[in-house]
Amino acid sequence: MGYYGPVLHDTNQLQSSEYTLVRSRRSRSLRIMVDIDGVVRVTAPVLLSKNYVDAYVRKHGAWIYKRQQQASQRNIIKVPKKDIPVLKEKTARIIKDRLGYFAAQYGYSYKKVSIRDQKTRWGSCSRSGNLNFNYKIALLPEKLIDYIVIHELCHLKELNHSKNFWNLVARACPEHLLLRKELRRTHIVTR
Ligand SMILES: [Zn+2]
Repeated sequence: MGYYGPVLHDTNQLQSSEYTLVRSRRSRSLRIMVDIDGVVRVTAPVLLSKNYVDAYVRKHGAWIYKRQQQASQRNIIKVPKKDIPVLKEKTARIIKDRLGYFAAQYGYSYKKVSIRDQKTRWGSCSRSGNLNFNYKIALLPEKLIDYIVIHELCHLKELNHSKNFWNLVARACPEHLLLRKELRRTHIVTR
């Protein structure tokens, strides 16, 4: 662990002034990374002095601070890799249940449903009426799961994000704007 000391800012609220230093034979220059959850990692060439690294990190304190502020707005849910198979099953069960419920209530019919390892999306709908859902969905609060299900069901009628589409979503989920915001700040990471 290194330490880059107090960096003064307007709010003077540095989340953490520690960083993890990784010495790498392959690295030719210093590199600072701020993880999705705000943890700072520095990669440095083997021979670079600790003082030099500290000074470099201190110099980039404002940038690190900004990244950490962004990270503090995120809601990070961590899931151990070994739990993934169970999670997939749980998500499949929940999706089946909620899809059935909302499809019956609003008169939607879909074809195939798949639970997938989707990196950037919670769900998707194909032109032929197949629905895909991210296997991590079971970790979300119920209201967010319902919003995702409703969103994809509405794509069966409107395969776009037009005004008509959002009207359909609002019919089943009046607070969708809030839920979308909540979903944007939610990140699930597997460790
Ligand atoms: Zn959509």
